[in-house]
Amino acid sequence: MGTSPACRETILAIKPYVPGKPIEEVQRELGIKDVIKLASNENPLGPSPDAVRAIQEAAERVYLYPDGNCYYLKNALAEKHGVSPENIIVGNGTDEIIKMLAEAYLNPGDEIVVADPTFSEYEFAALVMAGRAVKVPCRSFRHDLKAMAAAITSRTRLVFICNPNNPTGTIVGQMMLDNFLKEIPPSVLVVLDEAYADYVTAEHYPDSLAYVRYGRPNVIVLRTFSKIYGLAGLRVGYGVAVPEIIKNLNRVREPFNVNLVAQAAAFAALKDEAHYRKSREINIEGKQYLYEQFAAMGLTYVPTETNFIFVDVGQDSRGVFQELLKRGVIVRTGDIFGYDTYLRVTIGTPRQNERFIKALREVLGRA
Ligand SMILES: *Cc1c(COP(=O)(O)O)cnc(C)c1O
Repeated sequence: MGTSPACRETILAIKPYVPGKPIEEVQRELGIKDVIKLASNENPLGPSPDAVRAIQEAAERVYLYPDGNCYYLKNALAEKHGVSPENIIVGNGTDEIIKMLAEAYLNPGDEIVVADPTFSEYEFAALVMAGRAVKVPCRSFRHDLKAMAAAITSRTRLVFICNPNNPTGTIVGQMMLDNFLKEIPPSVLVVLDEAYADYVTAEHYPDSLAYVRYGRPNVIVLRTFSKIYGLAGLRVGYGVAVPEIIKNLNRVREPFNVNLVAQAAAFAALKDEAHYRKSREINIEGKQYLYEQFAAMGLTYVPTETNFIFVDVGQDSRGVFQELLKRGVIVRTGDIFGYDTYLRVTIGTPRQNERFIKALREVLGRA
C-alpha cells in the first residue's frame, strides 16, 4: 500500500489540544447519569434565554450564508466598547483570532513571548506557522512582565498577555501594563487576551480598550462569548484594535467564519444585562464558598479573578481527577500546565459547588 505523503515537518511538533472531558463521554464510560462538568469554565447558568430565542428564530434562516461582515454584532460591540466597527474583528471563537494573528504576523522562525503556565492556543498558533514560543515562567502565578519584556528579541512579533491568566486566575494591573507597554518596541504586537474580563472584581484591572480608543498601534484586545455569555458551543470571539491591525487580520479570515446562528445569539446575549449580572454574582458567591471550603480542608489555592480556581490538592491530581470522575464531577488536572498537584476547577452553581466539595472531601479523606 505504501506510505502517505509527508506533512510539513514543523507540524509534527504540535501536540493535540487536551479539552475538558465531555459529559456524554463520562456517562458512557462510567455509566453515571448525573455528571457535572467544572472543567472548561463554561457559564453554569447556561446562555441567556434571549439568546436561546434568537437561536430558534435564526434556525429557519440557516439555508442562507451568514453576513461575512457581522454587521449588527460589530455595531453592537462598537457601541458597547466606545469604539468604531472598523476597530473590530469577529472570529469563530477567540481561538480563531489567535490563529489569524499568527497567520498574519509570523514568518517561519519568528517568536512569540508567552507566560508559563498560560493558555496553550498561543503556542499552538505559533507552531502552525513554524514560529517559536518563548515561555517566561510566572512569578507567584503571575505574569512576570519585566522578564517578558526582557525576552523580546529582533525575532519577536507577538507577545501574549492572558489577563486574567488561564489557568492561574491572576491579573496584570493597570500600572504594570502601562509600564510594560512603554518598553515594547513598535514592531511587536501585544495581544491582551481578556476572555475572563467580565469576572474580574479587582479595581486595578486595566482599562485596556482605552489603549485602542487612544489609537495605540500595537495592541489588540481579545474577548469571547464562550465564558460569561454562555455561548461556548456556538464559537464567537472578537478582537479590538486600530483599523490597520483589523485590516491585516481580515486578509487571512475565511469569508464566512462566524455562522449565522452564532451571530444572532451573540447579538441577543449582549443585550441581556440581567443575565450577565446574575452570572457575575453567582460566580462571586461561588468563589467565596470554595475559598472557605478549601481553607477548611487545609488546601492552598491561587486567589482568582475568573470563574475558575487553581487549587493545590497536595498529591498527584490525576488520581484525584479519576476519583472525582467516578463521583460524576469533571475537573481539569494541573499536569498539562506543569503543576502536578493542582486542579483547575470551574466555579459552578451553589449545588454544583457543594457536590464538588463533597466529592473532593471523600477523595482526599477529609469527609
Ligand atoms: C476560554 C478562553 C478563550 C476563549 O476561546 P473561544 O475560542 O472564544 O471559546 C480565550 N482565551 C482564554 C485564555 C480562554 O481561557
